[in-house]
Amino acid sequence: MVIDMLNDFIEEGAVLEVPKGREIIPNIKLLVDKARDKGALIVYVCDSHDPNDPEFLKWPPHAVDGTSGAEVVDQLKPQKGDVMVKKLKYDGFLGTTLDLILRSRKIDTVVITGVLTNICVLYTASTASMLGYNVIIPRDCVASTSDEEHEWALHHMGDVLGIKIVSLREALGLF
Ligand SMILES: [Zn+2]
Repeated sequence: MVIDMLNDFIEEGAVLEVPKGREIIPNIKLLVDKARDKGALIVYVCDSHDPNDPEFLKWPPHAVDGTSGAEVVDQLKPQKGDVMVKKLKYDGFLGTTLDLILRSRKIDTVVITGVLTNICVLYTASTASMLGYNVIIPRDCVASTSDEEHEWALHHMGDVLGIKIVSLREALGLF
């Protein structure tokens, strides 16, 4: 799963820029390319807002559906066979077909990458865990705006949700 690796979060000077998000691109690419080669389903879970989305009371307008800001960064462009799930909220399962997509393929384990560790990754991983999926997060394939929030979220997901926090090398070994 690749969460919110979109131009509006990742590009330099982007409206909701996560500078460290650019550092994880090569790691995610390595993992996604290997997983895809081995037949794993790659799911892009992406913010896709209406221009008047109520979320814009909290955050500046971002990832508006149909704009370049809502597109996955060039380096990680979806390939044939990959699935795109558009989300409105932090939680990629809320009001989307994500659970159905995974269950109909009998997928019971998800590896989550992307941004932000303490927001969309956290809420999506939390629901995945509560729905009974085995959740694995490679720590060098997720990023946040600060190290404190990144580390807090990783600790929280490991400690409270029982999510497996692993290295990129360990994650590559899964496929
Ligand atoms: Zn959003």
